[in-house]
Amino acid sequence: MFVDVAKIRIKAGDGGNGAISFHREKYVAAGGPDGGDGGRGGNVVFVADTNLSTLVDFKYKKKYIAQNGENGRGKRCTGKNAPDLIIRVPKGTVVKEAETGRIMADLSGDQPVVLAHGGKGGWGNSHFATPTRQIPRFAKPGATGESFEVTLELKLLADVGLVGFPNVGKSTLISMVSAAKPVIANYHFTTLTPVLGVVRVDAEKSFVMADIPGLIEGASEGVGLGHEFLRHVDRCRLIVHVVDVSGIEGRDPQEDFVTINRELRNFSPELAERPQLVAGNKCDLATPEQIASFREFVEKQGYAFYPITAATRQGLEPLIYAVANRLAELPPIREYEPEPVPVEQLVQKGTRNFTIRREDGVFIVEGPWLMEVLGMVDLQDDESLQFFQRVLRDTGIIDKLEEMGIQEGDTVNILDFEFDYLR
Ligand code: GDP
Ligand code: MG
Repeated sequence: MFVDVAKIRIKAGDGGNGAISFHREKYVAAGGPDGGDGGRGGNVVFVADTNLSTLVDFKYKKKYIAQNGENGRGKRCTGKNAPDLIIRVPKGTVVKEAETGRIMADLSGDQPVVLAHGGKGGWGNSHFATPTRQIPRFAKPGATGESFEVTLELKLLADVGLVGFPNVGKSTLISMVSAAKPVIANYHFTTLTPVLGVVRVDAEKSFVMADIPGLIEGASEGVGLGHEFLRHVDRCRLIVHVVDVSGIEGRDPQEDFVTINRELRNFSPELAERPQLVAGNKCDLATPEQIASFREFVEKQGYAFYPITAATRQGLEPLIYAVANRLAELPPIREYEPEPVPVEQLVQKGTRNFTIRREDGVFIVEGPWLMEVLGMVDLQDDESLQFFQRVLRDTGIIDKLEEMGIQEGDTVNILDFEFDYLR
C-alpha cells in the first residue's frame, strides 16, 4: 500500500528528577547535601532514509515516545541520559505541527533533525547549598519533554512532474526515457502511486522525472484521485503537461489542456505559475491538422510545444533536451524552511506572568512557565539560545528589565540560570 500522509504523536522523554540526599558517614553528624542531577530525556529525531518510499508504517503505529531520563541519586550520582528515539521517513517527507500547520522540518537532506527535545534533568540538592542555606531540602524535578502531534507528508523530490488526464500516455513516456517501470494500460487511473525515473541526458546530465497519477476534473476539490497526488508536483521545478492530441478517446485536447491547468491553479496558484512545457502525445493517431491546430493553441498562450509519439519514442529526444535546457535555468528543488514556534503557543496564554526582583544587584526573574522554557534550552546550541532570547523579548521580560533600569553587564538570574545582560 502506498501512503503519503500520516498523523502521529511524538513525545520526547522527560528529564529525570534531581535527588534530595545528604552525605552520611560514620561519626559525621550531618553531612552536606549530595543529591545528584537527573538525566536528560531522549530526543525524538527524524532521519531521511532513501530506502523508504512510503509512510505506510505510520498508519499502524501512531505513537512514538522517547524514554525518560533517569532520576539522580545520592552520593552525587547523576541519572543516565535517555537514548534518542530515531524515526526513519522517506526522503522528501515534510513534517508539520498538526494543530497549526507550521512546518517543523523538511527531511530532504542527510542531516538528522531533532523534532522534540527531551527535558533536561533536574538539579539535585547538592547544587543548592549556599553559606546561608546549608541543608537544602529540595531539588528540581526534570523538565517535561516536548510533545507534538505531527502530520507527515511525502513530497517527492523530482525535477519534472508529468501531469495530464488519465490515459494520455504519461506512464508510457516515463518508461521510454528512464528505467522506471510503471504499469501501462489502456485503462484510467492505472497509475495509483507516483513513479520516479532518472532520465539520462548525456554522460554528465540527468534529471528526475515523476509520473503523477492522472488528474481528473474536480480533482482540486477533492473529487476522487488527483488532489491527493498534486502535492507531489509541489516541488517540481518544471511541469511537462502531456496531452493526447489525437483525441482518440473522444476528448477534446484543447479542453483537456484548459481543465488541467485550471485544476492546478485551484490546487495552488503558485503551482500554476510553474514553468510548463507541453508534450502533444499520440501523434501517430492524429492528423497533421489536429497537431498544427493544437500547436497554435498552446503557443499562443506562450507555451513551448513538442509533438511526440511516446509509444515509438518519436520526438522524445527534442523533448528531453528542451527539458534539460529549461532545468539548467531554473532554481534547485525547493526545500521547505522550518517555521519558528510562535511564543504564544509555547507559553500557554494567561500563564505568562513573571516577577522580577533585585537582590544584591542581580535581577531575579521568576515565573512557573519559565521552568518549562528553560528545560527546552540547550546552552551549547546557538539556535536554542536565539529561541530563548526571543521568548524573553516576546513575553516582555526584556522590556520590564529595562524599565527597572538594567545596565549592560548586569547579571540576570532565571531559575538559577545566570547570564550577563547584553543589549
Ligand atoms: P497514462 O494514464 O497517462 O499513464 O497513460 P499510459 O501511458 O498508461 O497509456 C495509456 C494508453 O495509451 C496505453 O494503452 C498506451 O499503450 C497508449 N499510448 C501511450 N502512448 C501512445 C502513443 O504515442 N501512441 C499510441 N497510439 N498509443 C499510446
Ligand atoms: Mg499512468
